[in-house]
Amino acid sequence: MIDARVNFDAFDNCCAYCYQKGVLIAEHVIPESKGGATGAVNCVPACLKCNRAKKNQHPWLWFSRQASFTEERWQKILLVLGITDEYINSMFDARKVDNTKIACKLPQLMEEKGINQKQLASATGLSPTTISKLYRNQLDRFDRNTILKLCEFFKCQSIAELIEIKGFSNE
Ligand SMILES: [Zn+2]
Repeated sequence: MIDARVNFDAFDNCCAYCYQKGVLIAEHVIPESKGGATGAVNCVPACLKCNRAKKNQHPWLWFSRQASFTEERWQKILLVLGITDEYINSMFDARKVDNTKIACKLPQLMEEKGINQKQLASATGLSPTTISKLYRNQLDRFDRNTILKLCEFFKCQSIAELIEIKGFSNE
């Protein structure tokens, strides 16, 4: 790993985003939580203010809303790191796929029991919208009540019979 400090000179030891001098830290352009590496391949100098404000946001989406944004500065960041907009976007999209790795086994459970969504909603007292979203694996938050009612109805011994986690995020 090549230390991020080698990139500081490329920005004249100024913040890559706002060009202020002062205390600079190595800022992950692609956030670590999105799989961004540590070191010269992914880090630029940033002032504490920019680093704190950007956090784990998409670098272009964040930077383009800042008063200091210019296309030239953005291109410079891409050039120094040797990456493209497409590459950054792919890292963020990969993350979205990751989030769908929580799979609800509702369709299988319902098929085994031979009931449809409407019947399940009336039997559990859960809203048809919730059932429908769970069925299509589109619900990204499970509340305690929903889990308990479904586990009770399907007589699940553990939550794993209802929800399958196919991969853990690195956050
Ligand atoms: Zn700054």
